[in-house]
Amino acid sequence: MTDEVGQDLVLDAARALRGDLEQVVGSPEPHSDAVELDRRLAALLAVANTGSDVKEELHDLLLSDTKTRGWYLGFLSHGMPPDLVLTRESGPPGSGEPVSVPKFCCPGGDMTWYRRSVGQNAPRCSIHDLALDPC
Ligand SMILES: [Zn+2]
Repeated sequence: MTDEVGQDLVLDAARALRGDLEQVVGSPEPHSDAVELDRRLAALLAVANTGSDVKEELHDLLLSDTKTRGWYLGFLSHGMPPDLVLTRESGPPGSGEPVSVPKFCCPGGDMTWYRRSVGQNAPRCSIHDLALDPC
């Protein structure tokens, strides 16, 4: 299956999952699964940012956890977090048009976050301790 999925899309999914981690995996308490997953994703993205191919490893990681699998497959279908894809009343879930929302990126290239509502503040990248910029 990974042959059909582009490396860029897998990397985009990994960056966006870091931004959505709390919704998808749960609150990142110390030593929790979310913290461990965030650390592994960031480590693989750091390797990817040096030009190495980590698509297979990221793909396997994102598919291996039941909490991330559905989100990840949705991202692969639409190129964005599945909750941002409007569902048409007549169609199957996730068949609608993507919603356009402001997007923010870590300058270090390892995290993407989508602003769902106007009052939300962009999170900071826990790896680089940087505020995310509009991108
Ligand atoms: Zn970062």
